[in-house]
Amino acid sequence: MAYEFERKQRVAVVGGGPGGYEAAIAGAQLGADVTLVEQVGVGGSAVITDVVPSKTLIAVAEATNAIGEAADLGVQFFSRNENGRPVRPEVAVNLAQVNKRLLGLARQQSEDMRANLIRAGVKIISGHGRLDGPDSVVVSTSAGPEGTDFDQVDADTIVISVGASPRILPSAVPDGERIFTWTQLYSLTAVPEHLIVVGSGVTGAEFASAYTALGSKVTLISSRDQVLPGEDADAAAVIENVFKRNGMTVLSKSRADSVERTAAGVVATLSDGTKVEGTHCLMAVGSIPNTKGIGLEEAGIQLSDSGHIRVNRVARTSAPNIYAAGDCTTFLPLASVASMQGRTAMFHAMGDAVNPTELRNVASNIFTQPQIATVGWTQRQIEEGIAQGDIYKLPLASNPRAKMMGIKDGFVKLFARTGSGTVIGGVVVAPNASELIFPIALAVEHRLTVDQVSRAFTVYPSLSGSISDAARAMHIVL
Ligand SMILES: Cc1cc2nc3c(=O)[nH]c(=O)nc-3n(C[C@H](O)[C@H](O)[C@H](O)COP(=O)(O)OP(=O)(O)OC[C@H]3O[C@@H](n4cnc5c(N)ncnc54)[C@H](O)[C@@H]3O)c2cc1C
Repeated sequence: MAYEFERKQRVAVVGGGPGGYEAAIAGAQLGADVTLVEQVGVGGSAVITDVVPSKTLIAVAEATNAIGEAADLGVQFFSRNENGRPVRPEVAVNLAQVNKRLLGLARQQSEDMRANLIRAGVKIISGHGRLDGPDSVVVSTSAGPEGTDFDQVDADTIVISVGASPRILPSAVPDGERIFTWTQLYSLTAVPEHLIVVGSGVTGAEFASAYTALGSKVTLISSRDQVLPGEDADAAAVIENVFKRNGMTVLSKSRADSVERTAAGVVATLSDGTKVEGTHCLMAVGSIPNTKGIGLEEAGIQLSDSGHIRVNRVARTSAPNIYAAGDCTTFLPLASVASMQGRTAMFHAMGDAVNPTELRNVASNIFTQPQIATVGWTQRQIEEGIAQGDIYKLPLASNPRAKMMGIKDGFVKLFARTGSGTVIGGVVVAPNASELIFPIALAVEHRLTVDQVSRAFTVYPSLSGSISDAARAMHIVL
């Protein structure tokens, strides 16, 4: 009988991106009374400005590339002029239409997620949330006639999932017309003639790759000696080669000190004084967490020097009833990680069975052309002796399916524990690497050996056959 009088656990979630959304859904599923506070739109930056729009744009870039590559396979595109002579048609991208479609798609995805939350019984408050101590969230909602309206949500458990925003350099302030952050790019109505991309990390590389395919002249300014610093060196070398082959200018070891508007476009001034002129500029120089001024430290939450919330593997902060998920935490800035953290946080808070997040097993992908997907330990860690492993790399050039499809670049690389042959990581560089990494991620998660992987059938001919071939080549002789 006592249960009848026990009140439901009250959960407040601040931020409705993948981290907050998943926490709210899991909380409702486990029987909590959940309130979600979101200031822009459900789905968060992931849906509204980052993942969904960028990957939709990249799908368009891939379609554009496919038209060009079809010619290599013998497909001819031509129309006839008035004399009946064949003429090559031009491939043109209607960026206004592309951007309209992708923004509509993002809006629809946000609405679908909002409807899912409501169906699950989650209460949604639109507004800016701030902690008022460890048990309460104050929300400033719309500005009423008397000023700003406030709402207060008292909670037993709070999940902070406020995400991050593009880093702005004072010497290169985006204006949304010629100088952009990645959130502003979708207002473009025509493909830029010459796009300068500052920053060669994942975001910079993805947009540089996409806009090259869409027809822009692209100059990529990279402060390191290779694009995609921190990624697998062989994979980064393949991508840099493809970039250059496709006509991109890659300025390595170059730092952009400033970016300013000119009468005709923009000029980036490098630290050695070189000036690079273009028509538009994308600033992709990282993100900063949205953790300032929302009462975190006052509620007893520890932050790192960079302002990220310190969490453990069940997403718990230093305040026992407060959890944090996603880009505002010290974990990996990926939508998949944010949602896993959100779910794990709720399971832990509500006493359900919890699998602490294992960052080592996170599969991630860079949507350049070709794509780069990775999971597990890296070659660098193996070479530095941090992990004991053998390395095997198989170029896709030897794969029959790759030959049929006209794939010129890419490889599969497996890492297996020396002696036991347990798969501890891998890299795939291929057109659909984001799909091909899954069998390796399964092997890493479930500690399969190379022999167990190679015993599973792959389709002949298939790109996944190269994963099996690499595993076979690493066979442990008894
Ligand atoms: C260009 C780009 C492409 C990307 N592509 C991929 C990809 O392909 N795959 C992948 O896994 N990841 C990708 N990412 C990373 C991914 O976008 C993030 O990891 C993900 O958005 C993190 O989710 P989140 O829930 O932490 O935060 P967000 O998605 O940023 O959501 C946070 C939400 O909190 C709200 N908020 C903030 N402060 C408050 C407040 N005080 N009160 C109320 N609401 C608040 C914001 O309005 C926002 O809606 C990409 C990132 C970028 C920049």
